[in-house]
Amino acid sequence: MEGFEGFEGELLTASDEGYDDARLVHNGLINKHPALIARCRGTADIAAAIRHAREQGLEIAVKGGGHNVAGRATTEGGVMIDLSLLRGVEVDPATLTVRAGGGVTWGELNDAAHRHGLATTGGVISTTGIAGLTLGGGFGWLMAKFGLSVDNLLQVELVTADGRVITASEDEEPDLFWGLRGGGGNFGVAASFTYRLHPLTDLVGGLIAHPFEAAGDVLRFYRDVTASLSDDLSIFASLVHAPDGSGVPLAALVVGHTGSPEQAEVDLAPIIGFGSPAVVQVGPMPYPVLNTMLDDGYPKGALNYWKSSFLAGLDDGLFDTLAERFAVCPSPMSAMVLEHFHGAVTRVGVTDTAVPHRDPGYDLVITSEWMDPMATDENIAWTRELYSAIEPHQAVRRYVNYLGDDEPIDAVRAAYGPNYDRLVEVKRRYDPDNAFHLNQNIAP
Ligand SMILES: Cc1cc2nc3c(=O)[nH]c(=O)nc-3n(C[C@H](O)[C@H](O)[C@H](O)COP(=O)(O)OP(=O)(O)OC[C@H]3O[C@@H](n4cnc5c(N)ncnc54)[C@H](O)[C@@H]3O)c2cc1C
Repeated sequence: MEGFEGFEGELLTASDEGYDDARLVHNGLINKHPALIARCRGTADIAAAIRHAREQGLEIAVKGGGHNVAGRATTEGGVMIDLSLLRGVEVDPATLTVRAGGGVTWGELNDAAHRHGLATTGGVISTTGIAGLTLGGGFGWLMAKFGLSVDNLLQVELVTADGRVITASEDEEPDLFWGLRGGGGNFGVAASFTYRLHPLTDLVGGLIAHPFEAAGDVLRFYRDVTASLSDDLSIFASLVHAPDGSGVPLAALVVGHTGSPEQAEVDLAPIIGFGSPAVVQVGPMPYPVLNTMLDDGYPKGALNYWKSSFLAGLDDGLFDTLAERFAVCPSPMSAMVLEHFHGAVTRVGVTDTAVPHRDPGYDLVITSEWMDPMATDENIAWTRELYSAIEPHQAVRRYVNYLGDDEPIDAVRAAYGPNYDRLVEVKRRYDPDNAFHLNQNIAP
């Protein structure tokens, strides 16, 4: 197609080769057709694409890694600003920082940092984009040690709705920077992110899987053992299916220890020694390997429907409900994951960044996934029923990056809690027309 002023990237429309691949996102349930996909090479292209979309009255979507389960990275009939060409990662070992483009995935960033013996907190699946994950908060294996991704964010290069290129940090545009640390894609298009890095090469990590019959005991043990953990040890509990496709349900503990191998051995001994696990695969591994360990369970194009909430606590009634419902789960790909919050992530103030989730505790995420479109209704119904069955155990707090496409109208406000009103002020300053609304939207 014919280009437009100031744009030197790649443009794709429905008749172009590669369009179908580019328009699709991770979640195969989302099937939208942008009128135009603008693959940007830098901030000038992003500004030109924003200007073009606004002049033509076209809706703007921004695609980082495309992992958002609600499918907010694409649009029916609008312009998709596709950042997949912005793949540069520059590590500066002298300042312990990394600057990465808006289209980079966690696997790419982790590999580059690892070559210098460094790491920072990112997501647990390597194919997830750094952009959307960071802008919403960033939970992962390293959050007890180093805080969330946003807690390690030092600078964002942002293109705003009026085409300005702004650098936001603690010192420059501090209100905007505060909002970018959790407020999602509401304020502009992030062309690059700069993070603080930490010395970390290997950790001791892996999986301990118990037969499903022991689920209640494993979850009770998990509650007890996570009541006091050092910042070095993170444990997520999960009801999952065996990855071999057999559909065999399991109760698993996924562990990651960032301390010395000797300390890890001491700390992990009671966890490995508990009960009669069917599988124990725990050992030293490079951080990027831990970060790919679960990738196969989340293939691109699988049909996804997720529900998630922080929990008021872990009581036996909750465990009973989780186990009962998991026993009748219709898909061998689905899982329930308890993410534990302790350590560094909980030592940041609730209003210090836009991410309010700083209490020690647990977040539950139900990751329903299936391949057969005919099974969609059944899987969505199962997920919804489970989610409403655990309502009495839910806290009011929810993670914005796990919100789906059919949430109650006040879900975003609830997700930000005491930070919502300040986010609205920042939105009014930087995007008063709500040009960027395909996100978990903070309405100006
Ligand atoms: C398999 C899987 C594993 C996950 N694991 C984790 C995890 O471990 N920890 C965690 O915290 N979350 C996790 N998530 C949730 C994840 O944080 C969100 O899905 C997040 O939106 C993904 O970012 P993305 O760039 O890949 O997504 P996209 O779908 O590209 O974008 C998500 C949102 O951010 C906006 N956006 C994207 N890039 C930019 C940009 N450069 N500038 C401005 N706005 C932008 C989009 O418009 C959209 O609204 C996971 C999701 C999946 C599907």
